[in-house]
Amino acid sequence: MREVSLDLQASDGFGTVVIGIPQDSPIEVDARLESVVEGVLVSGTIAGEAVGECARCLDEVVYDIDASFSELFFYPERAKVAQEEAEEDAEIVVLEDDQIDLEPLLRDSVVFALPFQPLCSPDCPGLCSECGVRLADEEGHAHEARGPMWSSLQSLFNETKES
Ligand SMILES: [Zn+2]
Ligand SMILES: [Zn+2]
Repeated sequence: MREVSLDLQASDGFGTVVIGIPQDSPIEVDARLESVVEGVLVSGTIAGEAVGECARCLDEVVYDIDASFSELFFYPERAKVAQEEAEEDAEIVVLEDDQIDLEPLLRDSVVFALPFQPLCSPDCPGLCSECGVRLADEEGHAHEARGPMWSSLQSLFNETKES
């Protein structure tokens, strides 16, 4: 068994379209490599800071990631049997030239740990549907009921449509 601590930089794509760890941002990985009969069992944690947009008000959201991962990397000579025994759509991972490629594993665990709909706060009221102002910044924000100016525009619009 061996333990490793790695200070890495995120490559492109550590996240989803709405939130993710920016490229070249630091990620900390603590991993444990264990020799088992079929190969090497890799488990550990990954920590980093994801940045995204609030799904309601589009403000910046910073999200601390503390995700865990675990994967068995099979010895090539064990892979065939393992694949046959695995469920049909399960993909097994194989050691290549005694190398462990952690990146896909780390990437998946980060994506899995991220919120599907990031929010700046759980009760973010979002944006005003009429003027687009961020409601959390303006307490009691409201609009006057639509006045005469609006209704004359509205009737003008209807006339145009009829003609
Ligand atoms: Zn928000
Ligand atoms: Zn408004």
